[in-house]
Amino acid sequence: MTQKANYIGGAWVEGPDAIENLNPADPADVIGLYASADQAQMRQAVQAARDAAPAWERSSTQLRSDILFRAANEILARKEELGALVSREAGKTLADGVGEVMRAGQVFQFFAGEAVRYGGENLPSVRPDIGVQISRHPVGVVSMITPWNFPIAIPAWKIAPALAFGNTVVLKPSEHTPGAAWELFAILERAGLPAGVANLVNGYGAAAGQTLLDGADAVSFTGSVATGRKIAAGASERMMRVQLEMGGKNPLVVLDDADLDVAVECALNGAFYSAGQRCTASSRLIVADGIHDRFVQALTDRMRKLVVGDPRTAGTQIGPVINAAQLEKILGYIELGRSEGATLAEGGKRAEAATAGHFLRPTLFTESSNAMRINQEEIFGPVAAVIRVSGYDEALQVANDTAFGLSSGICTTSLKHANHFRLNVRSGLTMVNLPTAGLDYHVPFGGVKASSFGPREQGRYAVDFYTSTKTAYIGY
Ligand code: NAD
Repeated sequence: MTQKANYIGGAWVEGPDAIENLNPADPADVIGLYASADQAQMRQAVQAARDAAPAWERSSTQLRSDILFRAANEILARKEELGALVSREAGKTLADGVGEVMRAGQVFQFFAGEAVRYGGENLPSVRPDIGVQISRHPVGVVSMITPWNFPIAIPAWKIAPALAFGNTVVLKPSEHTPGAAWELFAILERAGLPAGVANLVNGYGAAAGQTLLDGADAVSFTGSVATGRKIAAGASERMMRVQLEMGGKNPLVVLDDADLDVAVECALNGAFYSAGQRCTASSRLIVADGIHDRFVQALTDRMRKLVVGDPRTAGTQIGPVINAAQLEKILGYIELGRSEGATLAEGGKRAEAATAGHFLRPTLFTESSNAMRINQEEIFGPVAAVIRVSGYDEALQVANDTAFGLSSGICTTSLKHANHFRLNVRSGLTMVNLPTAGLDYHVPFGGVKASSFGPREQGRYAVDFYTSTKTAYIGY
């Protein structure tokens, strides 16, 4: 099997080592061999981005916009094929894979527009005969480190704004899903991106360490809190700009006056779709006493009918988790939940399947308390726990009693409670009568507390990370 190379300075360069990209639904299915960069190659990639930076910074916004539009067009035209690859390497359903690819294409379209729209501001000075002009300038070289659960959308929503606003880029995707990002770079090359403006280095995280931070001006990271902490420490040593998007322990509150069908649908989708491997997954279901028993009954009925299996098989609703280590980690949390005294109401075991994939039945704990570790630590699998509360006030207090603050949701027909929750829950995203996951591409994304650090991603607000402002005073 030939190696799919790294892309450095406009050339496809073989790595000193290779990564086997395996299908988590069927580990015997080898998707491809991908170059694994060593630190020397990562340094070359940063240098290539540095060399390309001055010309790209001066390039016309029309050129940048045209390139981003061409990339968007190819991504969207190939959505079925690329969606199948995303499904095969990340284990999500085909519909989810295609949806993710569409989102990547839409992000490129959006920033193709932003490239020509964003601008500065003119303000009067407080002094006479002086004007103040605030202009935006690229930050320079941006290193990007991304996780496996959105292997094309997350690279897209970092790369597209970076390029639109005149930065050059080095991306290191997750070693578990190198395929989709590789396709994205082949697309960028065909779209006419000049050599060195975007560089791809596949490789292992620990080996990458801080190498990609050396010589860069900014780093944008999405992944776990543990890795985020290391990146933040390295960035602060180097006094460089940093953006971190990390985990969640997202609450879904269900009040007595909720529409039961809506609440169950929100929980089912938010907690278990994509095998719970979304940073916005609803892992804590905070349910008021008056609806608790009906909610648990209806949810477990629906959970039993969920079809877990190989995404290549029609009708599959939930695919595998990403790898054997993650499956073991989740099973460990299920054991922990039992030993902490929660009741295992549904699931809790591997799902039967024809292939040796990493399949787990959607799992629900009831009678859990918020202080339990299963309710405080991100499990990142199809596992949720119900926390019974007396009513809205306790629900809000429990929702906020977490180190995380990415997404949150409330199911209620009370406008008063919905609005109070929206204003008082401590999270960057909040949903009313909708699952905590499932987002638009054109509005800001990010959280508070341990979930996020730095300016928001996506939408118009992305400009704040990928540019610096310069304030000029002009005397007339
Ligand atoms: P991870 O932290 O293990 O890996 C993320 C990336 O960091 C990978 O590319 C990995 O190779 C790299 N990495 C690992 N160790 C490193 C090190 N020491 N130095 C430099 N890079 C290193 O996370 P993961 O398991 O790939 O992804 C799952 C996590 O991502 C979950 O916590 C999830 O909540 C989070 N996530 C967050 C968002 C968000 O936008 N908030 C979106 C998706 C996923």
